Amino acid sequence: MSRVLIIGAGGVGNVVVQKCAQLPEIFTDICLASRTKSKCDEIAAMLDRPIETAQLDADDPKQTLALITRFRPDLVINVALPYQDLPIMDACLEAGVDYLDTANYEPPDEAKFEYKWQWAYDDKFRDSGIMALLGSGFDPGVTNVFCAYAQKHYFDEIHFVDIVDCNAGEHGHPFATNFNPEINIREITQKGKYWEQGDWKEIEPMSVSKDIDFPEIGPRKAYLLYHEEEESLVKHINGLKRIRFWMTFGEAYINHLQVLQNVGMTSIEPVEFEGKQIVPLQFLKAVLPDPGSLGVNYKGKTCIGCIMEGVKNGETKRIMIYNTCDHAKCYEEVKAQAVSYTTGVPAMIGAAMILTDQWHKPGVYNMEQFDPDPFMDMLNKHGLPWKVIEGKTLDS
Ligand code: NDP
Repeated sequence: MSRVLIIGAGGVGNVVVQKCAQLPEIFTDICLASRTKSKCDEIAAMLDRPIETAQLDADDPKQTLALITRFRPDLVINVALPYQDLPIMDACLEAGVDYLDTANYEPPDEAKFEYKWQWAYDDKFRDSGIMALLGSGFDPGVTNVFCAYAQKHYFDEIHFVDIVDCNAGEHGHPFATNFNPEINIREITQKGKYWEQGDWKEIEPMSVSKDIDFPEIGPRKAYLLYHEEEESLVKHINGLKRIRFWMTFGEAYINHLQVLQNVGMTSIEPVEFEGKQIVPLQFLKAVLPDPGSLGVNYKGKTCIGCIMEGVKNGETKRIMIYNTCDHAKCYEEVKAQAVSYTTGVPAMIGAAMILTDQWHKPGVYNMEQFDPDPFMDMLNKHGLPWKVIEGKTLDS
């Protein structure tokens, strides 16, 4: 018996609501709130059980607090944008309610995502006896849990981790991003970074690439990017020597992005236009397809996993843990493409872990800090089955 407030009615919010609604024994009452209430109502209309909906500007903690006070949730799931993380955490603190999100805080005027702002809430959350679970999407999220599972069951020490993310799907648009365009483009146009022997090594954006043979998909060109789960995993994996993150992009995507960058459309610096200040990237978001709308004719699969090398009982060991997810099947089930699906399902599972007390302690936590087994079990049961390949390396 629990009440959950879900904030954000985008591509991911739709999946979270539908997956929570499928489990009434855990999520007894649901309220979906977002900036545009009509989007909440459209999602609510697809369900076969009633939920509440509400208009909310989550940049304003007072509004969120007022809604929390009225709805009295046991947990707030934040699937709005990373800019709202801190104001929503503030409202949760004030109200004494647990918090979960899928992406770490990013200041709107600086393309920089780091956990430091949210980790700074740890003492306050502990003192209030509430918890925050950070990054309960796929990457971050499931990738952190894959590492924790490997650490628990396969390795004494994990020395090398390569997180690999492939979207081999075709949505039929010349250029579109699979999740919020502003957040996505900010992520991939900033400098790449990886961690080796205790230091962060910076590289120019998209300057290092590699052909990776993805299970059930085949070889695809992937680029080394910085991704937020690396920041927490370097703290929590025993014996780690290097961690990197690789994501695939097609040639057409990169060509479009280069042109948009060259003409200044990906900039977050405001420019004066017809007497008004506009941010080019926010304008670009307004003209690009809504990620939530891409699902209709999306074909193909995603494959996301962790390729790891380490030691067990003194012997070198290599494994890959991964999931593949079919865009068309996701659309059939919840009217979403696989990128929204692979984020929304783990958000629901993270919420279930908290609400059933399987993962529950005061403070601010990343996913790998809890027992991975019940989470891995729910992935298998709720649409994101995973597999382990022994002996797999980044080059095989
Ligand atoms: P969308 O842009 O589709 O949806 C965001 C939603 O948040 C929209 O409904 C938007 O409202 C709402 N919103 C924005 N600002 C506010 C506000 N101030 N108050 C209330 N609601 C607001 O994004 P996605 O669904 O694709 O992504 C959602 C989150 O998931 C993002 O944080 C993204 O970074 C994260 N993500 C995480 C991944 C992972 O694997 N960990 C992968 C993919 C995404 P409106 O409709 O009015 O614009």
